[in-house]
Amino acid sequence: MAKNKKIVVDINPEIRDVLVEMGAVDIYKCYQCGKCASACPWFQVGTYDFPVFRYPLETALGLVASSEEKEDLAKEVDKLYRCVGCEACVDQCPLGVDIPDILRAARRILLDFGCYPEPLKSVVQKIRNVGNPLGEPREKRADWAGDLDISAFQTHMEILYFPCCIPSYDARIQNVARSTARVLKKGGVPFGILGAKEQCCGEAIRRVGAESVYQEAAKANIRSFEAAGVRRVLVSSPHCLVTFKNEYPELGSSVEAIHATEYLWPLIEQGRLKPAKSVNKKVVYHDPCTLGRQCGIYDAPRKILRSIPGLALLEVEDFAREFSLCCGAGSGALWLDWPKGERIADVRIKQLVDTGAEVIAVACPYCLQMFEETVKAMNLNIPVMDVTEILYEALNEKGSAE
Ligand code: SF4
Ligand code: SF4
Repeated sequence: MAKNKKIVVDINPEIRDVLVEMGAVDIYKCYQCGKCASACPWFQVGTYDFPVFRYPLETALGLVASSEEKEDLAKEVDKLYRCVGCEACVDQCPLGVDIPDILRAARRILLDFGCYPEPLKSVVQKIRNVGNPLGEPREKRADWAGDLDISAFQTHMEILYFPCCIPSYDARIQNVARSTARVLKKGGVPFGILGAKEQCCGEAIRRVGAESVYQEAAKANIRSFEAAGVRRVLVSSPHCLVTFKNEYPELGSSVEAIHATEYLWPLIEQGRLKPAKSVNKKVVYHDPCTLGRQCGIYDAPRKILRSIPGLALLEVEDFAREFSLCCGAGSGALWLDWPKGERIADVRIKQLVDTGAEVIAVACPYCLQMFEETVKAMNLNIPVMDVTEILYEALNEKGSAE
């Protein structure tokens, strides 16, 4: 009896209405079948109770993010920021209920109250202040290009290469941007960069709940694209891809976005790039959620890897393509940490290593950073490489069309 009374007191229709206004429109579709729960990576982790199927109903009742008690809100923060936005639940739901959107709506409310994880506050602030989550100076954004002799974008060029913040600044991951640029040069592709005139695409902070900072960043990029006359953007990050493709048009952008693997595979098919040097390794490909489930790109990275002589491509049985397990870095989680035994990345690395692979291949800078850190933390000795880095290795002088 007392329990029922508590629920009646907690039900908060005003919060429900605000959540719906902020994007949780799918709450009434859910019929509580529970199918989403087994698809969620937290189910594979197994040590943390994250019953995703409850969120649509709890939101419809106004129970999510509704408390005014500090302690209760802290629990909400821990819960709501566990979602890595992998969309495995959306994929499996018979009605396509968008649970990550429901949780993101709740994050927007928490963020408005300043109630969200400290590391994410710092990320949001850095993007607002200097245009990237690493807090690096804007004027160093093109430093990755070093001595590669890459021109500033000009209107007659076919594409703008937009490397993403992590490959622009992170000392290890800059090699992804460098490899991509070198491969483009070998394929004879006219391309340029914007350097300090571009900034974070804003995907991660939008998913964290920082809508206004996202909009500022997105509008600034759109202005830069327009001023430079950009029509086509090639990206290394699926997070930039999904944002430029699906979200920037809401703000008036008309640029076409294409992922590096999608762009490079046809160049190999046409013979403009010839991977001739053998890479005699067993390589397992990890499907990034944002590239696979969210953009439907599964084949281009595999085709590139299969075109490399000597390379044996492996798959994670039962957890490949649309069933891939998230690396655990999406929706701001790259900058968060959970106790040992409660980490999605540990579970995924184990799956990848258990294939017997000698190299883990990825096609997303977030996966790359997350896996590199995880492999080190697990004391494993397996390289993690972007597909473009492996392709560049396979392009010896004979592989150049130049
Ligand atoms: S799978 Fe869809 S309908 Fe079933 S509980 Fe999950 S969100 Fe609701
Ligand atoms: S998006 Fe991924 S992490 Fe978030 S609730 Fe759905 S399955 Fe779980």
